[in-house]
Amino acid sequence: MSASILVLFDIDGTLLRRAGPAHGQALEDAVRLETGVRVSIATIPVFGMLDRDILTLMMREAGLGARAIRAAMPAIVARAQRLYHRRCPDLRQRVCPGVRPLLAKLGRREATLGLVTGNLSAIGWRKMRQAGLDHHFHLGAFADMGSTRGMLARLAAREARRAGWATPKTPTYLIGDTANDIQAAKENNMVSIAVATGHYGLDELKQHQPDILLEDLRQLRLEQL
Ligand SMILES: [Mg+2]
Repeated sequence: MSASILVLFDIDGTLLRRAGPAHGQALEDAVRLETGVRVSIATIPVFGMLDRDILTLMMREAGLGARAIRAAMPAIVARAQRLYHRRCPDLRQRVCPGVRPLLAKLGRREATLGLVTGNLSAIGWRKMRQAGLDHHFHLGAFADMGSTRGMLARLAAREARRAGWATPKTPTYLIGDTANDIQAAKENNMVSIAVATGHYGLDELKQHQPDILLEDLRQLRLEQL
């Protein structure tokens, strides 16, 4: 039986905040170990970006050409996920306000819950496990599955339909903390919910016209969905 609603969540800045440097360091170290080139994430505007785009920008800044970047990417992506798996800290204290009660309530309502994130898949699932949130989610679309956040949102909805958890008519929500999340929702005719628990404040998010704009997820009432 298909669920009442489909709710898709971004991870960084939305479910978790201040998850620490391990993720960025895994990306940097994976490039160095696979190519011998030192790169830095410090100058990259990472918020709302997909991990593969972050890797590409770092390597471009270090002087690597497009062909070399393409050739090295599969090994770098695999290495970054292995590195992060070992290094990911306990994230139970990094869960954003209101997230745990909201996920529990949605579960009782038999909503289908998914992840739509710029994290590589093994990194995203590892974060959810270390935060004690993984059991809430039925599915996920990650940076290694598509080249834009809009494409990832589409993949997540398609997977929910394929599994029989949703139909084309199931109301679908995409919750995130950046303009890229709002854009991805709009591209797919999903309801966009923006939360100011990441890098951007309410005023900045408002300019991108989300359907629902919240300080944090404590303010989300299920009657709004
Ligand atoms: Mg985010």
